[in-house]
Amino acid sequence: MHIDLSRFKEINDTLGHRAGDAAIVHVAGLLEALRRQDEWLARIGGDEFAFVLGAGERSENAARIAEEVIRILEAPIPCDGHLCRCGVSIGLSRTGDDVDGRQALINAAIALSSAKAQKGSRTVLFTAELENRNRAIKQTADDILRGLDDDAFLPFYQLQFDAKTLEVSGVETLARWQHPKHGVLAPDRFLKIAEDIDVMWRIDRSLAEKACGDFLRWRLEGLAVPRMSVNISARRLLDPELLASFPTQSFPKGTFVFEMLESIFLDALDDEMSKAIDRIRKAGIAIEIDDFGTGHASVLGLTTLHPKRLKIDRALIAPLTRGERHRRLVAAIIEMGHALDIEIVAEGVETQAQIVLLRTMGCDVLQGYALARPMATRDIEAFLRARLPATADTGLASEGSPPAAE
Ligand code: C2E
Ligand code: CA
Ligand code: CA
Repeated sequence: MHIDLSRFKEINDTLGHRAGDAAIVHVAGLLEALRRQDEWLARIGGDEFAFVLGAGERSENAARIAEEVIRILEAPIPCDGHLCRCGVSIGLSRTGDDVDGRQALINAAIALSSAKAQKGSRTVLFTAELENRNRAIKQTADDILRGLDDDAFLPFYQLQFDAKTLEVSGVETLARWQHPKHGVLAPDRFLKIAEDIDVMWRIDRSLAEKACGDFLRWRLEGLAVPRMSVNISARRLLDPELLASFPTQSFPKGTFVFEMLESIFLDALDDEMSKAIDRIRKAGIAIEIDDFGTGHASVLGLTTLHPKRLKIDRALIAPLTRGERHRRLVAAIIEMGHALDIEIVAEGVETQAQIVLLRTMGCDVLQGYALARPMATRDIEAFLRARLPATADTGLASEGSPPAAE
């Protein structure tokens, strides 16, 4: 058993090291009381213990013993005159024919990290499947780092349309990975791992540069896209380098947009967050709430944050034409937004029926496969050129575009 206490650092930080030491001694005593004579117990890190159970009946009952350990350690711990509580996670693994003690410890650590990835106290038993998954994740992590070196992350663009006129009203930037073996990959294949290994900011930075460059070029070439939006993760919002990575100074106010998940603004904005939002606004960047309706929709949060737009999640748009109740819900969100002077974007619009309905309901902007799929830079440029009125020749033909006919 690889046993790990969570929130132990908080004890050290808030009550001091003496309390932390007392807590560790107490925990060690509790574990020692469970240890049989032929068994082995060690503290192997600040708040981590390895507990090697005896063979036979003891190790067969490992899962039950682990539950027992959790129950005992989760009781309040006396720390230097205070009572504290810790969370507990345990990784379990077995020795065997080709698994020696050393390997078993490594396997338990792998199981532990899987246990910790799940919320709350948990035990996880090491399995071959876990090992394979772990190996695949590690492989992807290596590939992502190589991809960054090879500049393999690029923006795709999905157009947004004015619901009334169906003119192009904006474009959302979506991350893609040009994988050497698997082709173009969507964020579900790399976003989480990139976040885990803390390189999402590098991907974002490389995308930001390309997206701003494309947007500037389109403006110069008369490929009128009124707005460009990018997705900003909660973590990035507080990054002091955030604004510096978007060279948006030359874009008119409100033409560049940050999309942020509503979960970022759970409750009241804290001070740091408010300052970050202020800085973004001062830079002339508009704020949109993404995936509205899936997280902790706080109407109060909307009034304090006052975003420019609100994007209704596609989970609410999909059933729209399936019944009155769904329709009324979306109508109510649109009405609420308008009452607060917030424009409404519908995401995941996949059918003509949805387009018609959303239009009559007064939705402002539509985005979805029914109108345009996410496209690579070249494809979207071709798409936009094809829509340009024949007279709108800016004389600024770009590289690779066909020579203008005389
Ligand atoms: P999102 O911001 O909600 O982006 C919209 C997603 O819906 C995109 O998936 C898009 O391809 C998909 N979509 C658009 N229209 C339709 C439709 O009609 N039907 C259906 N079923 N899907 C549609 P994608 O590109 O796979 O992105 C997934 C998520 O990854 C995004 O969700 C966003 O949260 C995140 N993401 C994408 N790019 C970035 C990025 O550069 N940075 C960060 N932090 N997150 C990103
Ligand atoms: Ca988005
Ligand atoms: Ca969304």
